[in-house]
Amino acid sequence: MGIIVQKFGGTSVGSVERILKVAEQIITTKQKGNDVVVVVSAMGKSTDLLIETAKQICAEIPNREMDMLLSTGELVSISLLAIALRSKGFSAISLTGWQAGILTDSFHSQARIEHVNNSKILTHIDMGQIVIVAGFQGITTFGEVTTLGRGGSDTTAVALAASLNADLCEIYTDVDGVYSADPRIVPSARKIKRMTYDEMLELATLGAGVLHPRAVRCAKKYNVRLTVASSFSNVQGTFIEEEAGMEKDYGICGVTYNEDVVMIKIENFPNGADVLYSLFALLMQSKITVDFINQSSNDLPLTNISFTVSKEDTKRTLELLEENKERLEFNKVNAEFGAAKVSIVGTGLISEPEIIANMFKAFASANVLIKMINSSEIKISCIISAERLETAVQYLHTTFGLDTKEIAVVHR
Ligand code: ASP
Ligand code: MG
Repeated sequence: MGIIVQKFGGTSVGSVERILKVAEQIITTKQKGNDVVVVVSAMGKSTDLLIETAKQICAEIPNREMDMLLSTGELVSISLLAIALRSKGFSAISLTGWQAGILTDSFHSQARIEHVNNSKILTHIDMGQIVIVAGFQGITTFGEVTTLGRGGSDTTAVALAASLNADLCEIYTDVDGVYSADPRIVPSARKIKRMTYDEMLELATLGAGVLHPRAVRCAKKYNVRLTVASSFSNVQGTFIEEEAGMEKDYGICGVTYNEDVVMIKIENFPNGADVLYSLFALLMQSKITVDFINQSSNDLPLTNISFTVSKEDTKRTLELLEENKERLEFNKVNAEFGAAKVSIVGTGLISEPEIIANMFKAFASANVLIKMINSSEIKISCIISAERLETAVQYLHTTFGLDTKEIAVVHR
């Protein structure tokens, strides 16, 4: 049997009781003859608490020290889990990110894994031990402790699975898989049994929140088979892998939404590629991420430009635009709050005209006005009014048959 990487999130190891439960689950996997490498997050809300504590001392915390502080959260959970496994008679060892050989770049608080020097992990596996690695952290070539960004333990798990050529990477969390829509909005939402990396990537990025998008990207790159399941129940989760067939089947696997959307509208903007370049170069220099872009006319001297940014970036965007109003020669900019993004996700969407038509049919019956649209091979997203969001999600879910569809067979 090969190596299985199991990752347990904060709520899964949120108390002593939970840690003992997780230890049992790991033992079951080990007893089936697998080598097990475990990755854990910090217990419960402890990362949030560490951040709050630091903020009581100072509002602007140096990133290096923040990483030092936050890396301690995972050290608590790895050692407690190792203690639990040992108390049950199993040989286990906890390793920090650096002991596990997780080498990152030096972008504190958002570091990327560059390489895993897995020799120490392999030595302990060869000794028959269960290896428990701290998620979310690594070390630079200069010996500095880094963290991978919030939710980064998923990425640690996938990177380890890739490096160790594991048979499977199991992500255990507090939900039992990836759903076709948010069950709080669509009670008939169904668990997706099987999906591709690209679909998961869209769902993860668009706000399904179950998996760190970087983890999915890494899994796709190294072909790591992934499952997302609950550590609180035994039901089967969602399986994520590359498509099996030679040609894609088409279908929608889910409806997602994101409320962190603000529309920036610029009126009477000179129509030309050079000014557009100046505008977006300005935003780029301030690292403002733009999602949708819309231009109202193509052949008049003046046009209206709108684009979307996150709530966090809105103030900075407006300031920058006001400061550069004269240089960019436009006369008015404002921000429209109360917008939301709703998307349908599935393989090969854009090559199926009936899908787009059906999307508009759903919006028409739900009486939803579309403000902006963009699409890719595997998703179609629309900006609508946040007030109509729930209704839009429900109508789309029903229109595409997701209330009743056996989602496992979509791609087979
Ligand atoms: N403990 C870190 C966080 O809360 C990393 C993780 O949970 O994946 O963001
Ligand atoms: Mg998480």
